Amino acid sequence: MAEGSWYHADIDRVIISEEQIREKTAELAKQVSADHADAEGGLLLVCVLKGAVMFMADFARALGRHGPSAEMEFMAVSSYGSGTTSSGVVRILKDLDRDIAGRHVIVVEDIVDSGLTLSWLMKYLQSRSPASVEVVALFRKPDAVKVPVPVRYVGFDIPNEFVVGYGLDFAERYRELPYVGILRPEVYARS
Ligand code: 5GP
Ligand code: MG
Ligand code: MG
Repeated sequence: MAEGSWYHADIDRVIISEEQIREKTAELAKQVSADHADAEGGLLLVCVLKGAVMFMADFARALGRHGPSAEMEFMAVSSYGSGTTSSGVVRILKDLDRDIAGRHVIVVEDIVDSGLTLSWLMKYLQSRSPASVEVVALFRKPDAVKVPVPVRYVGFDIPNEFVVGYGLDFAERYRELPYVGILRPEVYARS
């Protein structure tokens, strides 16, 4: 294989660079920490697998530089629907490992697209009596929203196109890319 990473050849263009992600993550962590300096019991970060895994890891470390303390939980959900769109009918594949009652919860999301998954998740978490629930999402597609979800912290608003990288997959591939980009059309044709 030629020099460099295997995936560059599959990417049509980079939408958000590694450097931009790093800077924005630090900025979001600063904001969240300033707004929650006095959160009793610290924060409980809830990562929505698998897409948010990279953001969770980097965001948690950035938050750690400022505080308050943070604990991590992971959930996996699947929304029934055709391939690249979600339906809003959500199935829990992995639930929280513990009670979140009385805790200050921050949902750590990769991307808000239609908002259907997140809207369902917010209701689910709120039904478990946390002290508060807020969302930090690295990406949002404002033109794709079907249900308005209050996302307090947003990294980047991006165009309504299918993107991969930094946790986001196409058929379980491309999650390891350090940036977010758009695939070349040939990639879809060969799958
Ligand atoms: P929503 O319910 O808001 O439509 O999106 C649910 C999930 O679909 C997101 O959390 C994300 O994991 C996935 N998703 C939404 N848009 C994209 C995209 O452009 N690329 C990829 N790879 N996944 C996406
Ligand atoms: Mg997600
Ligand atoms: Mg996916």
